[in-house]
Amino acid sequence: MDVSSRPAGDRRWLVYLLIGLAFVGVYYLIPNDDTGRIARFVVYCLITSSAAVAALYGVRRNRPRPLRPWTLIALGQVVYAVADICFYVAHYVLRDHSYPNVADIFYLGHYPLVVAGLLLLIRMRSPGRDMPGVLDAAVLSVSAGMMSWLYLIGPRARLDSPLLVKAASLAYPMMDLAMLAVAIRLIMGGGRRPAAFTLLSTNLLALFAADSLYVLQQLDGSYAAGNYLDAIWLTSNLALGAAALHPTMRQLGERSTQDADTGPSLARMAVLSAAALLAPVLLLVQSAHGDMTGVPVIAVACALLFGLTIARLAGLVSAQRRLAITDVLTGLYTRRFFEAHLPIEIARAKRADGHLAVFIVDVDHFKSINDRYGHPAGDHVLVEIANRLRACARAGDVVARYGGEEFALLFPDTSPTELPGIAERLRHCVASSPITVSADTWIAVTVSVGTACFPLHGEQPSELVAVADRALYAAKAQGRDRIVVGRAPEPPAGRMADHAAMVDYLRHVADEVDGKLAGQEHSRAISRWAREVAEVMKLGPEAAHQAGLGGRLHDIGKIVVPPEVLTKPGRLDEAEWELMRQHPDHGYRLAAMVPDFEVIADIIRQHHERYDGSGYPQGLSGTDIRIEARIIAVCDAWAAMCSDRPYQRALLARQAIQELRLGSGTQFDPDVVAAFLKLQRRGAVGTLRPIRPATEEAQDRSYRT
Ligand code: GH3
Ligand code: MG
Ligand code: MG
Repeated sequence: MDVSSRPAGDRRWLVYLLIGLAFVGVYYLIPNDDTGRIARFVVYCLITSSAAVAALYGVRRNRPRPLRPWTLIALGQVVYAVADICFYVAHYVLRDHSYPNVADIFYLGHYPLVVAGLLLLIRMRSPGRDMPGVLDAAVLSVSAGMMSWLYLIGPRARLDSPLLVKAASLAYPMMDLAMLAVAIRLIMGGGRRPAAFTLLSTNLLALFAADSLYVLQQLDGSYAAGNYLDAIWLTSNLALGAAALHPTMRQLGERSTQDADTGPSLARMAVLSAAALLAPVLLLVQSAHGDMTGVPVIAVACALLFGLTIARLAGLVSAQRRLAITDVLTGLYTRRFFEAHLPIEIARAKRADGHLAVFIVDVDHFKSINDRYGHPAGDHVLVEIANRLRACARAGDVVARYGGEEFALLFPDTSPTELPGIAERLRHCVASSPITVSADTWIAVTVSVGTACFPLHGEQPSELVAVADRALYAAKAQGRDRIVVGRAPEPPAGRMADHAAMVDYLRHVADEVDGKLAGQEHSRAISRWAREVAEVMKLGPEAAHQAGLGGRLHDIGKIVVPPEVLTKPGRLDEAEWELMRQHPDHGYRLAAMVPDFEVIADIIRQHHERYDGSGYPQGLSGTDIRIEARIIAVCDAWAAMCSDRPYQRALLARQAIQELRLGSGTQFDPDVVAAFLKLQRRGAVGTLRPIRPATEEAQDRSYRT
């Protein structure tokens, strides 16, 4: 039979429920004495058996997919009905009042079936981890467990009864607790909550309530067979039958679509708070009664509840953070994240003396896609473009949705020579194949890309974005479906551009000198360390920048020293030594040719001065030597001591530290030595990296020259 053709207004469940409730009324009209005993027993068992029949019939009629969870739940009800019949037959027909007896085997046997069915349902509803649901359910279960332990399980365990009786009477509250925990997990977890869900929840909670009251009444001797608890048990059975008959029972196994944890509702917060506060309240109640037997159990419950609350909070915080930096439609980073991340990446590139590329990608004529195929198709196209861009990026690259149909990408360690290639790859991976929006609709999409690179096109986030944005608009103006590499804004009369090119050239000279000296980096390391020492000494950003740049360029004067002198293994003769001593002056003159570079030129000239005035070329001493030069002198000595040179093997760090200490106050500024050693102790100095392979080096040079 085709299930989808079933009328939506199928009311069998309601008819069943109403007739069932009428029978409950009849049950209480029959006198609760010897005359009515058999009639009562028949009506009672009729109702619980009807629930089993209704559950089996509901499963057959509604055919939930998969069948197993509901089948297990229905079988659980069959076993429960059998247990009721056994109980009444034993009690009222056979007059057998032994406990436990065969009915208890069936009563206890029904729990595992129901729990297994519920667990399967839960797994289908939230196949992922659904941590919020698990934690909330755990809070309620711990509270319920504590109560059950204090008032049901504990007192029963303390009763002086035969082993089998004790085991059976402990098994009930424990099974009830297990079923309650699973029920709570079902109720607190994600997934649809149609009428069948409410009916099933009613069945589980009512059963737990009646069972718990029953144990309590037994403990204080107030239980009387046939009291109001029967009404709760019977209604609970009817609710299960009605749930299985309800057409919406098929939806209970549907997967939850809500995945982002947007925070608990007010009602849920209230329930959770009440559950969590139960433990301390109980403690107060117990202490008021001078009864401290439950303290260990309550203390354990308090600790568990505290841990669960913290875990829930941590989950909420991280979910909120994820939400704030994730674009809802595409799953890419948000513009806010991109803008926060750009300065961080710039600072990192600056420290490593490296590069950083920014790409802005805008979909061509996207408005017409929306107009022609509709907004949902437009959304789908955006999602697919986002996926394609993400596939083009490496780990560590940032891909963000910058605006409606505009994306921004951040690629660290990407040099200007690589810009056009990567931009072209991005353009191509979006445009290479049409995007499928439905079985018979494909949309060909193109994008325009503008790109800019740090530090060539700017050192500030806004400059880089502005250059990339202008490049993007140039690409649009040139006809779209193309890439344009940005150009730094034209400086007045070309002076700034000349300046940047000259500094870049001097960096290139520094690399040349380093390459001649050893296989390890030198000036890049000095630049990093000098900047950090200046930061440790709190000299301000200007001095830190100058120390870094001075460190990078301090040895450029060595370009005029013949290589055989630079790398001579033995001692230098007087003439060679004279040549070497001139390199600070040569460096000074080279740097002084760059406009506004007087300070850097001075720093270069002074980096071989000694604190006590015995250095060269000018014999300056103390604070007459620029602080940046004093810093570079220490960093330079450290690098020399820690690398193999033609004339000397590298020292161990311990020996190099000793040397710096020895020179403190004579060769070196003591404050600088102290700051450097502080950095070194922090592990911030690190080792000298090998000079990069030739191909990369060549790429760098082709752009720099
Ligand atoms: P150009 O080639 O000049 O970039 O033209 P264009 O049509 O792509 O650019 P324009 O800025 O005129 O239009 C962008 C359109 O993107 C307008 C807006 O309705 C649409 N848009 C923005 N955000 C979304 C979104 O989230 N989903 C969909 N479907 N459309 C969006
Ligand atoms: Mg566009
Ligand atoms: Mg646009």
